[in-house]
Amino acid sequence: MSTLKVIVAGAGIGGLALARGLHAAGVEVAVFEKDAGAAFRNQGYRIRVNGDGIRALRNLLAPSAFELFAATAGTPGGRMDTLDQNLRRLHAQTLPDDPELPGGGHLAVNRKTLREILLSGLEDAVSYSARLVNYAASQDGGITAYFADGRTAEGDVLIGADGVNSAVRAQLMPEAEVMDAGLRLVYGKVPLRGPETEIVVPPDLLGLWTTITGPDKRFVGLAPVQYRQPMHAATARHAPGIALSADDDYLTCVFGARRELVPADDKLFAMTGVELRDLELAHVEGWDPVVGAIVAAQDAASIFPVSVRSSVPHGGWRPGPVALLGDAVHAMSPAIGVGANTALRDAQVLTARLVEAATAGKPVAEALDEYRREMLGYGFAAVRESAERGHRLVGQNPLPSRETLEA
Ligand SMILES: Cc1cc2nc3c(=O)[nH]c(=O)nc-3n(C[C@H](O)[C@H](O)[C@H](O)COP(=O)(O)OP(=O)(O)OC[C@H]3O[C@@H](n4cnc5c(N)ncnc54)[C@H](O)[C@@H]3O)c2cc1C
Repeated sequence: MSTLKVIVAGAGIGGLALARGLHAAGVEVAVFEKDAGAAFRNQGYRIRVNGDGIRALRNLLAPSAFELFAATAGTPGGRMDTLDQNLRRLHAQTLPDDPELPGGGHLAVNRKTLREILLSGLEDAVSYSARLVNYAASQDGGITAYFADGRTAEGDVLIGADGVNSAVRAQLMPEAEVMDAGLRLVYGKVPLRGPETEIVVPPDLLGLWTTITGPDKRFVGLAPVQYRQPMHAATARHAPGIALSADDDYLTCVFGARRELVPADDKLFAMTGVELRDLELAHVEGWDPVVGAIVAAQDAASIFPVSVRSSVPHGGWRPGPVALLGDAVHAMSPAIGVGANTALRDAQVLTARLVEAATAGKPVAEALDEYRREMLGYGFAAVRESAERGHRLVGQNPLPSRETLEA
């Protein structure tokens, strides 16, 4: 039906969700990923998928794959508490349930599981070890993408879904800024079941997200992924054609602090899991012993540091056959946990526009421009809200003011 060919740089959550939607609609799509394979690199653990993300996935996935996604997610409810270092409640909030959505609209999803579901059936459309270095307009009005190993790919449209360090953005909008938000995080996993588990976490700390704050806005964030059935049982029931890696219940443990309070990046990013855990333990000394016990129970091999960065909102790029999606355009602090959800929403909106271009004769540049305008509205609203919350709660650097940006 369609002769439109879409090139996607990046097989993260956003790029794969877009590819899924296009593939299902019969639009030719080729994804190029710089990593050597789907499981090449640790990309984090639990992701909170909210109503936006769930609706996008319901739209983009085949019904059986969507059921599998919902069946393999934890359903922690909407409770988000803030406690002090002695575990006294400072603030309690329960996000409302949406009865139309699985888990009331609050799902705790294992990132690897979500990627496996997104990838299933797309294997032939994804090329690995393919780092996009640049692109150029081709003579027929399309786009040629160039990769580090000398490969090239031709298409009508190029979507940069290549994350916060996007090579596509560097060429499309070299003036776009990504700022250091001044926070450093250390992520790890505490096994909640299995032979190595030595800790029983109090149920009060197993809500959707719990923040425990200490002096200098240092904090420990906790969020569980508790499965309702083993992966193999869920696949057998909902989508026997999809293979998922097994996993056990865990608690994500995130330590965060201003960058001045932890070793400089060259040291921090060279530390082993054991060293990072010791660093966290030193910071939570004197806090309620339960906090120290949880931090100590992290699997050392799972621990890695992250520096928080944020896009600085801008007015977007000039219309044409190239567009950006997800963190490539609106990277944000994880303070409200919506970066991946916003990338999923992008994938839903962009799929709809490109399918119109492929099937209803809408000019490609017009389709991409409609996407760009809609996405910049909700995308940068999420960047601003994340930065504001991160500034207030955990001392993240504020974004430049609107007046500064508009001057
Ligand atoms: C530890 C952590 C926890 C988080 N928790 C949440 C959460 O609970 N909820 C939430 O909504 N968000 C969360 N986020 C944010 C979320 O992970 C991101 O917003 C989301 O992954 C963005 O998806 P993406 O596809 O745009 O980018 P990415 O997931 O970064 O994917 C980009 C892909 O592009 C590839 N790539 C990069 N450069 C190139 C190139 N030149 N050529 C080809 N490929 C390239 C990368 O290898 C990668 O696979 C969290 C982030 C972190 C770090």
